[in-house]
Amino acid sequence: MDETWLNELREFISIPSVSADPAHQDDLRRAAEWVRDFVKRAGGDAELVPYGTRDLVIGDIPATSNGKDAPTVLVYGHFDVQPPAPLDLWESPPFELEERDGWLYARGIADDKGQLYTLLKAAELLRTDGGLPVNLRIACDGEEEIGGHSIVEFLEQDERGADACIIFDGGMTRPEQPEFALATRGLVGYHVVVRTGERDLHSGYYGGAALNAIHALVEGLSAVLPRNGLLPDQLRVGRTALTEVETQSLKKLPSGAEVLLDAGATPLDPQAERDFYDRTWAEPSLDVNGIRGGKPDFVNTTLIVEAEARFTIRLAPGQDPETVGSAAERLFRRAVPDGAEVTMERENSAPPGVFAPDSPAIQLGLEAFERAVGARPILVRVGGTLPIYPALAAKGIPTIGTGFALRESNVHSPNERLRVQDVDRAVAAATELYKGLAALG
Ligand SMILES: [Zn+2]
Repeated sequence: MDETWLNELREFISIPSVSADPAHQDDLRRAAEWVRDFVKRAGGDAELVPYGTRDLVIGDIPATSNGKDAPTVLVYGHFDVQPPAPLDLWESPPFELEERDGWLYARGIADDKGQLYTLLKAAELLRTDGGLPVNLRIACDGEEEIGGHSIVEFLEQDERGADACIIFDGGMTRPEQPEFALATRGLVGYHVVVRTGERDLHSGYYGGAALNAIHALVEGLSAVLPRNGLLPDQLRVGRTALTEVETQSLKKLPSGAEVLLDAGATPLDPQAERDFYDRTWAEPSLDVNGIRGGKPDFVNTTLIVEAEARFTIRLAPGQDPETVGSAAERLFRRAVPDGAEVTMERENSAPPGVFAPDSPAIQLGLEAFERAVGARPILVRVGGTLPIYPALAAKGIPTIGTGFALRESNVHSPNERLRVQDVDRAVAAATELYKGLAALG
């Protein structure tokens, strides 16, 4: 890798832009300024745009070829990082870029500063050569790791639109087999409190006659939990099956059994291994994330009158948070015994995101990647929730969501890393993408 690139990366990485830690607010601003200044050096213009409580970096790098017809490509990345703790597990300081055995180590090298850098670098190189055939609109945030919504709000109100979007903030399961993420799951979550009385009671005096809040909570939860691996039908409304092209991709991915085994997970039911990708890409799922009630730390015989839980539902592509959320509320409330007082608060809600595999931008992207890295990406879905995807989908902006992080990249963990060769591959891929997407004009 070019020495200049290494130095630039080292400088960007050395800013500890940890969004979750208020002590690093100045560093977040410095990271934003770093991106802004890089865009300016690359021949574009950019500024920090205060949005909510933080800054976005919004900028443009105009095309230098392709004339007035040059299409506009939105480039998104985030310059904030996860906290590096626990520090003692790092083999080198997290904010000092270090190269060892073909890997670059540092917090943010894979997620996402290192990858964002490659998109900006490719733009700079093309622009310097006078051959940037697309107008690039740069939109970066510093709150991705804490679930910030500023970038979503910015995109929603931005009337200009774009012909395509490129995001390098993901990775690939196998190092030589790139992946484009065509869909993400949505999310709707609840905090539930169940009350059945004024105060806890003596189970000897009242047990068998008075309603226990933990029991009521468990009955409510059992109505929304999966049976034979699938959620109740009311919670599966609207989901869309995997397309033929997505089903084809499964042949190039590790089996569900392998993925579950690697994670040390216990299959939910006998079909879970075989149906792994259906379950995580095309089905909604519900997880109870916490439950509290009573006094499990002590031997006791109390009849408990208050219990609470949090649960979240990952929505399959095609589903609507309002519809599924309301159905979950109805199922829960109906299953709780009469007389129990239930409060259900919806805490988060994000729709799934879906992009058409046959859109010209995706097709041009596949070809560009094949030229750059010698392998045609497979089209996959993401089981997680990324609010920017549905925001872009709602704007009709086809999005190439991909990246070069590997399973061994330790994203969000100590010793985060990216292969040196993947910096080169990512810059090459970004270059070919910019060239290829010129055909959208
Ligand atoms: Zn990320």
